[in-house]
Amino acid sequence: MSEAPILKDTTRSSGREALQKNIQAAMALAEAIRSTLGPKGLDKLLIDDEGRTLVTNDGVTVLETAKVEHPVAKMMINASSTQDRIAKDGTTSTVILAGEMLQNAWQLILQGIHPSTIARGFRKSEQYLLQCIADIAFESDRDMRHTVVKTALAGKGHSSMQEIVAKLSLEAVEMVADEDSSVDLSKIKLISQTGGIVEDCIVLRGLMLPKKRISSNMKKEIIGGKIVLIDGGLEKKTVSSDLKLNVTTTGIFESFRQEERKMLKQQVDQLVSHKISVLACRESIDDEIRNYLAEHGIQAFRRVARSDLNMLAKVCNARTVGSVGDLTDDDVGAFVSSKNITLDNKDFWVVEGSGNAATIVAKASTVDVVGEVERCFDDALGVSVQLIEDGLVVCGGGASYVALARRLRRYAETIPGREQLAVEAYADAIEVIVRVLAENAGIDPISALLDVVAEQTNADSNNIGINLQTGRPDDMLSHGILEPKGIVRQAIIGATEVAISILRIDDVLWAKQQMEMPELPEDEM
Ligand code: ADP
Ligand code: MG
Repeated sequence: MSEAPILKDTTRSSGREALQKNIQAAMALAEAIRSTLGPKGLDKLLIDDEGRTLVTNDGVTVLETAKVEHPVAKMMINASSTQDRIAKDGTTSTVILAGEMLQNAWQLILQGIHPSTIARGFRKSEQYLLQCIADIAFESDRDMRHTVVKTALAGKGHSSMQEIVAKLSLEAVEMVADEDSSVDLSKIKLISQTGGIVEDCIVLRGLMLPKKRISSNMKKEIIGGKIVLIDGGLEKKTVSSDLKLNVTTTGIFESFRQEERKMLKQQVDQLVSHKISVLACRESIDDEIRNYLAEHGIQAFRRVARSDLNMLAKVCNARTVGSVGDLTDDDVGAFVSSKNITLDNKDFWVVEGSGNAATIVAKASTVDVVGEVERCFDDALGVSVQLIEDGLVVCGGGASYVALARRLRRYAETIPGREQLAVEAYADAIEVIVRVLAENAGIDPISALLDVVAEQTNADSNNIGINLQTGRPDDMLSHGILEPKGIVRQAIIGATEVAISILRIDDVLWAKQQMEMPELPEDEM
């Protein structure tokens, strides 16, 4: 049968050949970030096409920066990005897990097991693990949460930085948490400054913006009052270029200007009638009415970014309006305090309102370090949110994965037919985390895994993982190596999803040219 015309300029690979290529691509990608996993993971130096450099060991950052062409590799990267969005951590683990699941699936395919059978077995395994993950999780207290956030930062920055980032992130998240413990991360603002040390990072209640009131005649600090947010300015109308002003008598231009000034003052009067004491505009505020505003006790700020106006709206329960003319009482917000402060010779405006908000000031010596500190805060905040919303944690150092694999093997025995093999392959795959953690710490991966499994079984404990200092199995709980249950759960969901999607592809149609295959490490397949 001739090819359908629609496939004319298309390269096609199908069946087992397609699957093999796809699995190779997925494994190559997992291989590329394997060495960054864990506290002993190494960093990668990334250089973009404009020569900018970035040193990181964050899996998702590496993957998102790399220009990857292969569609299957892109699927893996998407899984990692999703993990980053939902759980903020476990991005490297997700990709390594998916790579290992596919490698084990390939071994089964070589034995003649159909990919759909494997996909079904993988799905069953996932569903079973999601049920029994609750058995290995436990409730955390305040101290434990601190160590959990620190574990999430392992391998990033130095230990005093991890300490302070963990502390501040938890504090910030606690400040903005609602009564039902739900957290809206957009209520936390992260601002960064170079020229300090990490130990100088601070967190404060309310919103802090690098802004100064427009006139020093205005009050520096106001306690309690009303605020208006304008998504525009308080300016004279610019005279449009094709308008001609016929000046016939002296002073006509001046009276025109006066009229404009009067209109501006009327707007201020309107603010006064609403008893406003703080004004924030996205655009400019005319110089000529600075004093008029000050005389009426209004503290004003101009050129406030729209995103900051939106945050202010949340903090003060206000609504942004297009102009003063549109203002109604419902749009007016309330603040607890609005003050101007100086920090390291820079001016800041700090607003506290009835709505919760927090600002973290990240500091470090250079731009590169500040970038890494910001990324640490990002991770730490995400993990802190998980902990505040759901305090359940599991043991790190691969302990939770081994505990889950042990349960899965027992479950496999109850499954008839070839799916049983897929469930066993899945159990083997999730143990990869211990092997890679060991590998990256220069410990023999196979013995490490076997020792951890044996120790967990003998002690009947879910908390034994690999101690990367001694290379021996150890109780992770007593060492404070813990992670949120949500991260492990999401990593399992994400990795299974992408592995199954890749297993289901049996036909690849490439337009025009053959894509380049990522390089495959030797002796893998
Ligand atoms: P990911 O992007 O998947 O979060 P990381 O590089 O952050 O990757 O590594 C996380 C893994 O490192 C987790 O499995 C965690 O349990 C493990 N880990 C972190 N600190 C330690 C430690 N001190 N000892 C053993 N394992 C650790
Ligand atoms: Mg991590």
